[in-house]
Amino acid sequence: MSRFFSEKYKSLTPYTPGEQPKDMQYVKLNTNESPFPPCPAVVKAAEDAAKTLQLYPDPDCRDLVQTLASRYAVDTDEILLTNGSDEILNFAFMAFCDDKHPIVFPDITYGFYPVFAKINHIPYEEIPLRDDFSIDVNDYTGVNKNIVIANPNAPTGMTLSPDEIGRIAASNPDNVVIVDEAYVDFGADSAVRLTKKYDNLLVTQTFSKSRSLAGGRLGYGIGSKALIADLNTIKYSTNPYNINRMTAAAGIAAIQNDDYFMSNCRTIAENREKTAQALKALGFRVLPSRSNFLFAESDSIDGGTLYMKLKERGVLIRHFTLERIKNFNRITIGSAEQMDVLLSKIKEILEETA
Ligand code: PMP
Repeated sequence: MSRFFSEKYKSLTPYTPGEQPKDMQYVKLNTNESPFPPCPAVVKAAEDAAKTLQLYPDPDCRDLVQTLASRYAVDTDEILLTNGSDEILNFAFMAFCDDKHPIVFPDITYGFYPVFAKINHIPYEEIPLRDDFSIDVNDYTGVNKNIVIANPNAPTGMTLSPDEIGRIAASNPDNVVIVDEAYVDFGADSAVRLTKKYDNLLVTQTFSKSRSLAGGRLGYGIGSKALIADLNTIKYSTNPYNINRMTAAAGIAAIQNDDYFMSNCRTIAENREKTAQALKALGFRVLPSRSNFLFAESDSIDGGTLYMKLKERGVLIRHFTLERIKNFNRITIGSAEQMDVLLSKIKEILEETA
């Protein structure tokens, strides 16, 4: 730390992204990326856009907003595009939370929420998940605080129904309810249509997972016109050109080729179910996931050891040290071939440690 670092950030512990080691070629199942590359039309759109990189991008992303608005049957002023969905989440914390408007979220959820709260000096409260790692909706009804819920939740993969999200939004009319749908396309039900009914509901989604654009950094929020206007105030006060030309072009092409991406999501969901069955057959407890990852633990091997032994064998998965989940690992669902490698390495490790 330099002697110039501001007092207000000195105690900040930053978010730790999943590791990206370069020492060998890993089967990478640790950051919930898609195993499938973007389709050729998306790559071509980004290439073409690169030819005009001397120009600033459109700060309003009008073509992309229009394309997304048609896809989700909402108005163009009900959408805001951001540099990954992390950016819109941060904007929402900045825009709607402060000393008098604290935020609540589950104790086991996306690790960035407490970081967004801390960097913006927002008081927050963590509500424990039930013993089975599900969210008890009653914990969020009438709490009279802002709320952020990942749905599907991460790293559990478990979901709430749109009815349950509606109950939460309806019972906290004077607070903003943020539903982070980063993983919704892998089999969960979206709350997007409820944004027409509840003016306090903000749904965030991303192109990173289901549309194979983690490297492009493109996310968005859908909500009432007034919520989106506030988020735009934050955007235009920090980084008006937050979406570069190549990413905007890739995003439009991705929506135009939605069948390709949604078919990949179905393949990933199938691979997820097969992998869950195989892990259960090996004695693992696997939480019921509707996302592109599984969260699993075994009585035969401790979570940290399994993570390390897989890494030694060239397979990366994600281990968290948080007490309540330290025996678990989060395993991204990849191609059928990647899942075969994972399962054969796990078998090898279990045999070796038996
Ligand atoms: N929400 C959740 C629950 C996530 O796991 C992630 C990915 N780390 C994000 C949001 C942000 O993803 P991105 O910024 O790539 O859209």
